[in-house]
Amino acid sequence: MIPYGRQSIDDDDIAAVVEALRSDFITQGPAIEEFERTVAEYCGVKHAVAVSNGTAALHVAVLAAGLRAGERLWTSPITFVASANCARYVGADVDFVDIDPDTLNLDPVALAEKLERAAAEGTLPKVVIPVHFGGQSCDMDRISELAERYGFTVIEDASHAIGGSWNGDKVGSCARSWMTTFSFHPVKIVTTAEGGMVTTNDEDIAERLKLFRTHGVTRDTSLMRNPSEGGWYYEQVELGYNYRLTDIQAALGTSQMRRIDGFVERRNELAARYAELLSGLPLDVQQVLPAAHSAYHLFVVRLRDESAASRREFFDRLREAGIGANVHYIPVHLQPYYRDLGFGPGDFPVAEAYYRRAVTLPLYPAMTDADQDAVVAAVRGALG
Ligand SMILES: *Cc1c(COP(=O)(O)O)cnc(C)c1O
Repeated sequence: MIPYGRQSIDDDDIAAVVEALRSDFITQGPAIEEFERTVAEYCGVKHAVAVSNGTAALHVAVLAAGLRAGERLWTSPITFVASANCARYVGADVDFVDIDPDTLNLDPVALAEKLERAAAEGTLPKVVIPVHFGGQSCDMDRISELAERYGFTVIEDASHAIGGSWNGDKVGSCARSWMTTFSFHPVKIVTTAEGGMVTTNDEDIAERLKLFRTHGVTRDTSLMRNPSEGGWYYEQVELGYNYRLTDIQAALGTSQMRRIDGFVERRNELAARYAELLSGLPLDVQQVLPAAHSAYHLFVVRLRDESAASRREFFDRLREAGIGANVHYIPVHLQPYYRDLGFGPGDFPVAEAYYRRAVTLPLYPAMTDADQDAVVAAVRGALG
């Protein structure tokens, strides 16, 4: 089976992990700060805070943004459930903004219209989470303009997009947002097995992210309410969590970051080759805007005709041919949990139409041209 995604681990990565295992600290040691510095420098951002996974990154980000019960968070319906769930963790309400049918990202026009209605009704969101679908940045110029006009906080969910850029700024630079979150799950661009990161240019936000990462506990006297009682003294000033990354994982992350540009280049090469080899077939591919350089986490095709060869048949034929096709994503608002909150079919028609036609093809840096030719042959066969 050719998988839809997989990690690239080399001997340097293995050596880095072994070295971390032999060091004095396998957690809460210096490898964490080194990984944070490496990602911050790469992205061109002041602060980076490593956490245990991408979901924890979203959770501490909404906490640092001060999102509270009863307030609103908006995101895309075409994302992994974690982008929406982070609001529910703090008791906030979730709503969605439909996607653009070509870029597959949250549609800035739909966002502007929904904001105008919300302003009239007094239901504006506190936080908006644009998701950089497949590795392509959302239109951050238009989203940041709207953020300024309507006063919401932007947290970019860049789980797919480390190594990408928008208008010359690296994703994660937070040039047009308050925070950016990353995931380092093995299928993503770089991996720490499980891991995540939040970047920000705001020092106070960075402090709060670190506080929520470790139980809300601090040893920094400037953050304490009372005078220190001695060298052992710490205070819990917020309700936080244990969302720490280990030094073993951080060492792997730093080692992986040395190869990120090569990973993204190969992903782009394969994506361009897919587009060429699949042209002429009744499929649509994701439009990438001129301002975006995509990290190409995913290569999604959409069947042009919803009725003829059904997506399910196409998917099953690919799987039977040994191709690890996948579907990203089932619209979040159609999940039973979100239906219980009042969402249902018809709420976000562009996302729902996209879902009926979408299949993700394999894409990962170690994929060979021959692997890709096998996928393309299977696609031709499956289209009948
Ligand atoms: C992978 C992913 C997450 C969650 O990351 P984990 O590291 O698996 O917790 C969140 N949002 C999106 C868009 C993702 O793809």
